[in-house]
Amino acid sequence: MTAPTYDLGKLHGGLRLPGHKTASTAAPIRDVPIPSQLVLPITQHVGDPAQPVVGTGDRVLKGQVVAEPDGTLGAPVHASSSGKVIAIEPWPVSRRYGDSAPCIIIECDGEDRAAENDGRSADFLSLQPADLLLRLLDGGIVGLGGAVFPTAQKLMQARTCKIETLILNGVECEPYISCDDMLMRERGAEILSGAQILMHAMQIESCYVAVESDKVEALHSLGDALAELGDDRLVLKQVPTIYPSGGEDQLVQLVTNREVPSGGLPTDVGCLVQNVGTAAAVHDWIIRHEPLISRVTTVAGDGIANPMNVRARIGTTIGDVVEFTGGYAERADHLIIGGPMTGKSMSTDLVPLVKATNSILVVLKTSFQGRELPCIRCGDCASVCPVQLLPQQLFWHARADNEAKLREFGLIDCIECGCCDLVCPSHIPLTANFQIAKGRIQELADEKARAERARRRFEARNERLEQEKQDRETELARQKETAKQAGPAAIAEILKRKQQQREDD
Ligand code: SF4
Ligand code: SF4
Repeated sequence: MTAPTYDLGKLHGGLRLPGHKTASTAAPIRDVPIPSQLVLPITQHVGDPAQPVVGTGDRVLKGQVVAEPDGTLGAPVHASSSGKVIAIEPWPVSRRYGDSAPCIIIECDGEDRAAENDGRSADFLSLQPADLLLRLLDGGIVGLGGAVFPTAQKLMQARTCKIETLILNGVECEPYISCDDMLMRERGAEILSGAQILMHAMQIESCYVAVESDKVEALHSLGDALAELGDDRLVLKQVPTIYPSGGEDQLVQLVTNREVPSGGLPTDVGCLVQNVGTAAAVHDWIIRHEPLISRVTTVAGDGIANPMNVRARIGTTIGDVVEFTGGYAERADHLIIGGPMTGKSMSTDLVPLVKATNSILVVLKTSFQGRELPCIRCGDCASVCPVQLLPQQLFWHARADNEAKLREFGLIDCIECGCCDLVCPSHIPLTANFQIAKGRIQELADEKARAERARRRFEARNERLEQEKQDRETELARQKETAKQAGPAAIAEILKRKQQQREDD
């Protein structure tokens, strides 16, 4: 079955980049063995950190919850294999260069004993949508395209809007990354099953499975799986191979020709976007009762001896994953988690693979990028910006730290795709400046929110004290009235008490 290309909206800007995916897609996905030690960060999702529910010395089983969400937004963390908790301590993680964060460290026993399935039925259609959403909460599933927003909560928020279309995002447009491509080739039926579960949870009757035109094998695999499924609510859509067509807003535009408003979400135009890997994880949890304890990741780049895609347990260190693939190439120099456009540089391969890790990229010594020169106002950055921003103007306002202008020029809509950097003849690090400016604005907003919370607490305290004072005075007046009727001795007693109270105040 071939996938149709029709009714596509238009993507502004973008770049056609060399894919560098041939080497990593040459062989099937390989399974990384259980490592001797797993390192599980308690924060692998957007929202509040999960709180450990195990302690040092505890024995744990595969799939057992080891940290539970604490707060309104979060996801549980499960043990990826059986073993013993040997520490809960800070460990280097892949959020930012040099960061460390609390992690649960498990010494694996190699037996891989699984926690008992609680006997729940896999018949999701027999569940009410609200019950299905609650069940999804327990699977630890987050957006596997990189956003790591807790999936159940994303669906719950979307249920407050009028959603007509589910879009499964199989558009893996960043160079080198091919984990979704391989997943679509090998697990097309499970991805579609996940889509059906999501559709039931959301009561949606239409789903587009969007795949880039250069992923021929994935398109065939999904086409065959769709033909076998015979569910005509699901439609395969081929989208052009152009970076960054996999951005949520860009994909909505391409697939439905609807424009997500500035500062808005796909749900504002009736769409819910989920990554194909997330759909497979939903299938694994609801049908196979396996929470999110492993993922497929691409190991690639000139600094890797044998590029490939692997399925590894969450918590396996990057060093262990790379060693399994055959190790580093001779002149390997630089480790990046994620792709070359949006990934983060790492200072150590001790960081664990987490739910967000879609790629481990190792490059050779970076070539000289060119000295930064003044902007020549060529406009190239604006012509490639997929969000139709004016990067050169944003850059000036970012350098001037002008928050009002940054807001006016739409910094909030910048998806940090890096297209503007790549074409700038003056080698200006535009995206890095935008990231810093966004961080600063966020810090200011957090500070304002903190100050506002403190102000409200102060006012509430004053109101409470005032109320208590009034209550006391009312009570004294009542006692005085009672004493008046009781005689002069009682009045003297009341006045004495009041005097004492004033002194106390
Ligand atoms: S990084 Fe931001 S400003 Fe630059 S091209 Fe991408 S969206 Fe536009
Ligand atoms: S591409 Fe670079 S030099 Fe050209 S306008 Fe943009 S920032 Fe200026």
